[in-house]
Amino acid sequence: MPSEFDLIARFFTRPTPDAVLGVGDDAALLAVSPGMELAVSTDMLVSGQHFFPDVDPYLLGHKTLAVNLSDLAAMGATPRWALLSLALPAAETGWLEVFSRGLFDMAARFEVSLVGGDTTRGPLNMSVTLLGEVPAGQALRRSAARDGDDIWVSGDLGGAALGLRYLLGEADLADAGEIEACLTRLHAPEPRVALGRALLGVAHATIDISDGLLADLGHILACSKAGAAIEFACLPAHPAVAARLPHALMQRCLLAGGDDYELCFTAAAERAHVVLATAAAASVHVTRIGRITAEPGLRLLAANGALMQVQETGFDHFS
Ligand code: ADP
Ligand code: MG
Repeated sequence: MPSEFDLIARFFTRPTPDAVLGVGDDAALLAVSPGMELAVSTDMLVSGQHFFPDVDPYLLGHKTLAVNLSDLAAMGATPRWALLSLALPAAETGWLEVFSRGLFDMAARFEVSLVGGDTTRGPLNMSVTLLGEVPAGQALRRSAARDGDDIWVSGDLGGAALGLRYLLGEADLADAGEIEACLTRLHAPEPRVALGRALLGVAHATIDISDGLLADLGHILACSKAGAAIEFACLPAHPAVAARLPHALMQRCLLAGGDDYELCFTAAAERAHVVLATAAAASVHVTRIGRITAEPGLRLLAANGALMQVQETGFDHFS
């Protein structure tokens, strides 16, 4: 039976040239670049709550880092260092081998160094703390939306939620292609780090959509003390969701599905061409979905301009 220290040495210790000191001491040592602020975020994934216990450990390693990268993307920060706290029911080396490969492949792609963590026995769960850098005073905050801003969303929405409904037996999908597409959105989200960084100086308020569009846009509105008018027909639904609209479950996936890990951001309306050029340079598709209003509240408008009833708010662990 490998010891805790064997596991750390074997699966979680890799060279960390970007840290003054990485794994192995009581604390890591990091040098923050001049003129930069640290952006720090943590996100926990709990077995049975955020993932199925039998999910492919490679994808779990990917997602564990991806959900944190998405938070830093939403601040416009460049991710640099990660800490991993891991509770494991048993020291299954085969599982750890694949999980750590998924995590380190993602870390390599986004140039993140794993500099420390904690390893303990317990019900399977993993928590990453991610540290990144952002030019001082320039981070993209939820509170920065202004009256008249356009509201934009990256990529498409609802695919991950539809994939989850499919796994739960609550929705059908047409073929292997659709299943693959939705499950990839669910298990292997692609954090919009390049877009977030490129939006510095372009976007006003920004958030990543993890709990569903309406809930997360709602956070921007609350923090910015503003309202919004959203055009339902403009929303970029995932193709498998779009094919089934206006089915109520599909509307729910689109508006309140969760696990999208796209960015929702606002920008001055006269800078729409800059937004489009910035997104194109980051190789991400963005869609204008509505406008920030001085009048509070979130209004969802049908194609004919009629107000749609919004019942869906999004995912909340305690409601
Ligand atoms: P301490 O007892 O001082 O908290 P630990 O025994 O928990 O130290 O950890 C030893 C070293 O291994 C520390 O540098 C810690 O940051 C690192 N570490 C522990 N678990 C992990 C992990 N899952 N991933 C990366 N580093 C880890
Ligand atoms: Mg410790």
